[in-house]
Amino acid sequence: MTEYDLPSAARHPYTWGNLDTPGHLPEAAAGAMAALGAVPPPASVAVADARVPDSTLPVEAADELAKALGAEHVTSAHDARVEHTRGFSTPDLLKLRAGDASDAPDAVVFPGSHEDVLAVLEICTRHRVAVVPFAGGTSVVGGLAPVRAGFAGVIALDLRRLDRLVSVDEVSRTAVLQAGLRAVDAERLLAEHGLTLGHFPQSFEMASIGGFAAARSAGQASAGYGRFDDMVVGLTVATPRGTVTLGTAPKSAAGPDLRQLVLGSEGAFGVITSVTVRVRPVPAVRVFEAWNFPSFTEGVAALRALAQDGPLPTVLRLSDEMETAVNLSDPSAALAAPGSGGCQVITGYEGGEAAVAATRAAVTERFLALGARSQGTEAGEKWRTGRFRGPYLRDPLLDAGALVETLETVTFWSNLEQLKTAVTEAISGSLAEQGTPGLVMCHISHVYETGASLYFTVVAKQLDDPLAQWAKAKEAANAAIRACGAAISHHHGVGTDHRETLALELGPIAVDMLRAVKASVDPAGVLNPGILIG
Ligand SMILES: Cc1cc2nc3c(=O)[nH]c(=O)nc-3n(C[C@H](O)[C@H](O)[C@H](O)COP(=O)(O)OP(=O)(O)OC[C@H]3O[C@@H](n4cnc5c(N)ncnc54)[C@H](O)[C@@H]3O)c2cc1C
Repeated sequence: MTEYDLPSAARHPYTWGNLDTPGHLPEAAAGAMAALGAVPPPASVAVADARVPDSTLPVEAADELAKALGAEHVTSAHDARVEHTRGFSTPDLLKLRAGDASDAPDAVVFPGSHEDVLAVLEICTRHRVAVVPFAGGTSVVGGLAPVRAGFAGVIALDLRRLDRLVSVDEVSRTAVLQAGLRAVDAERLLAEHGLTLGHFPQSFEMASIGGFAAARSAGQASAGYGRFDDMVVGLTVATPRGTVTLGTAPKSAAGPDLRQLVLGSEGAFGVITSVTVRVRPVPAVRVFEAWNFPSFTEGVAALRALAQDGPLPTVLRLSDEMETAVNLSDPSAALAAPGSGGCQVITGYEGGEAAVAATRAAVTERFLALGARSQGTEAGEKWRTGRFRGPYLRDPLLDAGALVETLETVTFWSNLEQLKTAVTEAISGSLAEQGTPGLVMCHISHVYETGASLYFTVVAKQLDDPLAQWAKAKEAANAAIRACGAAISHHHGVGTDHRETLALELGPIAVDMLRAVKASVDPAGVLNPGILIG
């Protein structure tokens, strides 16, 4: 099965992905968790038993919403409210597993058109009801848990009915996609035209087009296809003041590019109802290969060489010594001898046969000259076919009493290794101070001529209060990122979790610029209050 025929996964509030293919913890991993002293926590509370607060949605607002959308498209049912509670960070999951749905919206609405969204925003503005645009619900930064204070109620605006491929312009190679279209469905529909978006984040089975645009997502093939914000050439946005349509041409010199103001705005400036994206032909050939470098430093030098001087494969990622060792199928081996196996690089090539062969030959020559050993295409193919399975392991790890979470950042090449060391030490130090050792793994999966992102995965034994445990570790990581002058997020976004750090990163004048934009499109401030900016 390839990414072009993966099924779209129904969303369970705290279990990842397709429920027909749940994750299982390999025996060795379970042993490693026991070695860490992890103790399985109490069983998760069933969705039906999760505790939701009484709804505060004014009756008039509920009636008007039902009239505008049809009563069948507005619900205050318990399970629907739980399903739209927060996102998919580990703290989000831990809270729901414990039955805490205190951030549940009062109601969920399902608009079927751009006009429906405008109507919802008009009604909510009049009744001072906060609106949370809800796409795939995979935010890991608190992007779906707005600040409730000062509002008469909160609704989740679920975009799943906006699920069409509207049009394809085969000459310009663009397609118009509605915002609620799930990524897997977008690929399937585009494949019928022989086209692909090429956007494959690890959340591919769950996330949606609107969420990618709103949170500036980056997929695993970003070296070849670019980030999602590179793909977007046009947007239609519903705001409380009306419609904004952006992108009359691919590039323009007519003033600032306002598309970039909407991309990454995380629902604070409006609801994206459709995007026009650049698409490419489905590749004729795909080859994935694994390599091994003696050290992270040598791997970084090789990635930088390709990013700066070319040629670039479509997928290019480097795991550090720990991540290479903690092939999660056998983490106990890694615990015994971390760092003994060098660092793995994955290269993936997609395109026409001749182009793939030429790029692959050039990269091979470069890598061999830089001290790499090929591990062959079988290992590369194994990575490709297993690449969406990683998140499925989080559920059984949590069941086993492990704390497992990720975070990411980005900086310039000259600062990259210093940043990696600082963040690793900050997280390890915080966990050790709290009395539990942890594994901190890192990889680079998005490269640019001037720098690269760092993605950290942390595994430790859950303490009695795992929420406080992770909050301390994350605070230490954020402080290290700040101290190194790196960005608080490369692709997860801001949400509520990174809002304060973003404000420090931008400074007060730039934050005021964002506030001014919000005030101009959303005078009552009903859109995602507290998300992105305070
Ligand atoms: C297991 C896992 C793996 C992940 N892997 C990756 C990865 O590889 N790369 C990556 O970039 N991210 C990744 N993420 C993070 C997440 O998938 C991305 O941020 C994604 O872009 C969110 O898409 P979504 O459709 O789920 O949006 P949601 O989570 O529903 O929404 C994200 C934010 O955007 C707002 N929003 C949603 N839709 C709209 C809209 N139409 N208009 C305006 N605002 C809107 C929401 O209110 C929210 O603030 C991962 C998350 C998980 C849980």
